[in-house]
Amino acid sequence: MSEFSEIGRTGTTIEFINRDGQYSQRITNSSSTCIKIYQVCADYDGNILEIVNFVGMGQQMVYKQPSILVSLFSDDEGFFGKRCPKCDSYFRTSSVNKKNICPYCGHKDDFTEFLTENQKDFVRNFVKAQIDTLSKGISAKIDLDEIATSLPLNTVSPWVYKEETQQNKFTCEKCKNETDILGEYGKCSSCGKHNCEDIALKKINFLEEKFKDVDENIEDRHKRESEWEKLLRCVSEFEGLANEIRKHLLLLPLTEKRRKELKAISFQRILGSSEKLNEWFSINIFEGITDDEKQFVNKMFNIRHLFTHNNGQVDSEYIQNTGDNSMKINQLVRLRSNEIKRIITLTKKMIINLTTDYMSIQ
Ligand SMILES: [Zn+2]
Ligand SMILES: [Zn+2]
Repeated sequence: MSEFSEIGRTGTTIEFINRDGQYSQRITNSSSTCIKIYQVCADYDGNILEIVNFVGMGQQMVYKQPSILVSLFSDDEGFFGKRCPKCDSYFRTSSVNKKNICPYCGHKDDFTEFLTENQKDFVRNFVKAQIDTLSKGISAKIDLDEIATSLPLNTVSPWVYKEETQQNKFTCEKCKNETDILGEYGKCSSCGKHNCEDIALKKINFLEEKFKDVDENIEDRHKRESEWEKLLRCVSEFEGLANEIRKHLLLLPLTEKRRKELKAISFQRILGSSEKLNEWFSINIFEGITDDEKQFVNKMFNIRHLFTHNNGQVDSEYIQNTGDNSMKINQLVRLRSNEIKRIITLTKKMIINLTTDYMSIQ
């Protein structure tokens, strides 16, 4: 499925049936794809009052009155589109819980607050159609596919709220709920667990594998060096992760001064920024890492900066930041396999420290 393509339900019909004044509702779905339904009750203006749990045969459904039962359908992939009431971001979730959590800003609210405009329109129309049918004493059948195909821009019809696929679908390790978001990092839309550790470790494990492959299979020195340069990407992966976590730390209650300082720190300057995170949030990136290893990490972060901004040549900033007097200004840095192996291993430790301490914040 391509990014951002619109998805609709297929094979769904809704029937409002009037049998001698006895009124009932029937929903049929003939598609083979996964479909989920939120059953809710809404007032006569189409405002959702609450979720109504499905019950077994012969059992009575209990829900607020007066109201009308409405079914909200997932898209063909079993997802519901949501819009965060706080940050206005769009995402999809497989959750049918009463509460939703925004994967981007962590805002937790009632699922009704997360409904998209299309879904709200759908509910209003559902209610209106039922009231019409009841008042006329007739039966009516609504085919969602027919409406979808009869309209070139089917988002026009309030019966068909289309969802947009996002870029990255992830399954929560904790609750198994699925969330579809833009970008890679985000919180589970059901339980709120951040996927930062899973994603960052996946990336670093991939680099570890890549290292082994190059080390075992490439002998030419120049080719190896150019591969080592690429594997310095582990530093950028760490920075990406740290920036994501900073975004969520900024959502915590902070003084204005602290907020400004947190916004301003650069994870490229790993020693200074790690000290700050430890001081402000007890997040210890260097837990279990020796001073010698810390200095090495600092050196490699700065070398990565040289490759990104100075063609791999030493500059005065590098010498100032690392105190590495073995190198001369303009000298070309040579990367060695043991250094790459060591920085990947240490970055992995730092990722685990950072994510573990961040996730322990209550
Ligand atoms: Zn949000
Ligand atoms: Zn979860």
